[in-house]
Amino acid sequence: MGTGQWFTDRAGTRWFFDSGALCLDFAYTGDLGYANPAWERLHSPDDLADWLTQRFGPLAGPVDAAVLAAALNLRAAIVAVTRALAVDAAPDPAAVDVLNAFAAGADLAPHLGGGILVPPAPSAPRALATVARDAVRTFAAGSARIRTCAADDCALIFHDDSRASSRRWCSMRRCGNRAKVRTHRTAAGTPTASTTTAPTKERHR
Ligand SMILES: [Zn+2]
Repeated sequence: MGTGQWFTDRAGTRWFFDSGALCLDFAYTGDLGYANPAWERLHSPDDLADWLTQRFGPLAGPVDAAVLAAALNLRAAIVAVTRALAVDAAPDPAAVDVLNAFAAGADLAPHLGGGILVPPAPSAPRALATVARDAVRTFAAGSARIRTCAADDCALIFHDDSRASSRRWCSMRRCGNRAKVRTHRTAAGTPTASTTTAPTKERHR
């Protein structure tokens, strides 16, 4: 399954943000620690069940308040490690411990596709363990591919899974195009130092 999810910006425009990793998609069910309550999507156990169902299919068993609390604990740990790696800092060992503890749980078994081989419905704890294992795999590579959008006014963090490790923008349509327009205007008018930052190598996402 691919990564990414739809966001709605302040102007009400929907846009697709591919964080590049399941664990970061999960982190972006909240505000990533930027104190912006409008970003919170997991207000209730039902919200969590909906998000997990979108990713993993119908769940076996209900999602209760305890599972939601566990999920938010996992999410906070993912956020802490993500934000540390985005600035090349060492992650908080306590957050790493939380990730490892979740990742040690039983995750979703891989399954073959096809009309006959229907995967078993996952439990929420197994789905969360799967998210945690994705975090361990993603973060195991260190900070090189955990990057903040290159736009000055954008704090979105993504995992660059492009082969050339050349992704610069949260979204080509959002920040990438704005940068292109700025560069174009600058090139057409008075040259400034910013003409040297023309985005030529970013991939369309
Ligand atoms: Zn951006």
